[in-house]
Amino acid sequence: MTLVPRGAIDCDVHVAVPGMATLLPYMSQAWREMIVTRGTDGLELASYPTTAPISCRPDWLPASGKPGTDLAILQREVLDGFGVRAAIVNCLHGGQAVHSEDLARALCQAVNDWLVAEWLDKDARLRASIVVPAQNPDYAAAEIDRCARDQRFVQVQLLASNEIMLGRKYYWPIYEAAARHGLPVGIHGGGAYRHAPTSVGWPSHYAQDYVSHTMGLESALLSLMAEGVFNHVPELRVVLIESGVSWLPGFLWRAIKSWRGLRGETPWFTTSPADLVRRHVRLTAQPFDAPGAEEVEKILAHIDCDEMLLFATDFPHWQFDGAEVLPPGMPAALIQKLAVDNPLATYPRLPTYP
Ligand code: ZN
Repeated sequence: MTLVPRGAIDCDVHVAVPGMATLLPYMSQAWREMIVTRGTDGLELASYPTTAPISCRPDWLPASGKPGTDLAILQREVLDGFGVRAAIVNCLHGGQAVHSEDLARALCQAVNDWLVAEWLDKDARLRASIVVPAQNPDYAAAEIDRCARDQRFVQVQLLASNEIMLGRKYYWPIYEAAARHGLPVGIHGGGAYRHAPTSVGWPSHYAQDYVSHTMGLESALLSLMAEGVFNHVPELRVVLIESGVSWLPGFLWRAIKSWRGLRGETPWFTTSPADLVRRHVRLTAQPFDAPGAEEVEKILAHIDCDEMLLFATDFPHWQFDGAEVLPPGMPAALIQKLAVDNPLATYPRLPTYP
């Protein structure tokens, strides 16, 4: 078993909004009335199927309610269990997927205020990503400006798949706002389901959906590079969350090969994809998606950069391997970087608060 160093920073833990009614106190009177009048106050806008085995390790299910709704379990299993100095909360919520821009804004604002009141204020080790309504990038930028005043928000949270590809200029106000506050943009696997999660059509089963998340991340990453986002916002840092690591070397090989032959069509795309990724992109290392120590070693050699990986437990999801949270075969020096040094370098707000 590979031990997690004390003082590690967990870069992906999940908490769940128990239900729409939870958010009502954080919404305006008009939205409260509309949600209750429509009868949608009993709705759950969750990403994972609430009772599916993949939603939570069975031994980590709370006595009642959804996985990720019990602070005591998060404290016992992650904060105290691994002795982490900080954990970054990513709240995946349907507010990032609903079609109405205005409802999306109201829900994301409510989720962020709920995160502060119910989680950040209750344990000083918790930090959070700002949940933004990417359905309207101006609304999203305003929400970043609003939340960034609280230093415990350390990242902007996007989903990989949205209305259009993430590199398009339509989304640039979000990257500008993130950079304005020195915040990395965390792109979490998943999407708003405007399109099939695979490039060849809609899957029938949840397992297909989950496996296809790497395709979403690959497409989003290449879109950011090819559209020139990193030229426009040179200080931007992107964190790819919960979609594995082992796909990266093969993806980069194909991206570099095609870029060499076709870069004439994107004259601003002058830096090799490998160099752009090393400079601007970080990945959480849970799940790692490699079967054993030998494979992990080879993947690390292909990535050839000890600054890119970030420790994460992905609490409370089923993919999380309990005490075996780090992949086998990692050198001790890399584990120290992944658990402590790399998160501190990626998230400028972590070392300064409290
Ligand atoms: Zn996650």
